[in-house]
Amino acid sequence: MNAITEFPPTPKGRDFEIKALGLRDFAGLRRDDQRLDPFELARYAKLLVVDYEQIEPFLSGETREELLQGSKDSWSGGACSQRLPDGRKLIILNPTHSPNRQNATLMEEISHVFLGHQPSRLAVRTLNKQGKTIARDYRPEIEEEAYGVGAAALVPFASLKRFIRRGKTSREIAKHFNVSRDLVEYRIKISKLWDEYASSILVNREY
Ligand SMILES: [Zn+2]
Repeated sequence: MNAITEFPPTPKGRDFEIKALGLRDFAGLRRDDQRLDPFELARYAKLLVVDYEQIEPFLSGETREELLQGSKDSWSGGACSQRLPDGRKLIILNPTHSPNRQNATLMEEISHVFLGHQPSRLAVRTLNKQGKTIARDYRPEIEEEAYGVGAAALVPFASLKRFIRRGKTSREIAKHFNVSRDLVEYRIKISKLWDEYASSILVNREY
């Protein structure tokens, strides 16, 4: 197989893909269509994923209400800026989000660690009355890299392309990799495979 075809055509896509493949290699995955379990990878990355239930007793009623009701749609997860005495970093995921979404969030947090991004405080992205974000964990370009690399690690380009050529839908690909359909479609678009995807679906499916 021609190695050139294994990477997205854009410089950024290629850069993200190379980093993502490094992550998959670290996770011990040998085939590009193998499913990556972020929870397993988190252990290698020295991240301690804590259930929300475990920290709930330490939160005030007001904070609980804010996290699970008021702001539940404006935060996906966070990492404590300070490491634990054993060197691990504590991560918490929004328990009201679906497992697919939690996978993507955790993958992003793992990317931050692997890419050496500056640690954040427990980042709760809240919206003020005007609907503006008042707290963010990282700069937008850092966020883009972490999310992009994480998404590429979950859905590698080479296998994505093969699935598309076989006429698989984003829903089927999402199921294979245990991620959301949105994430797969983001990968298709960012990898410049959308035109191919759209025509493949038309050829292979009857609507
Ligand atoms: Zn982030």
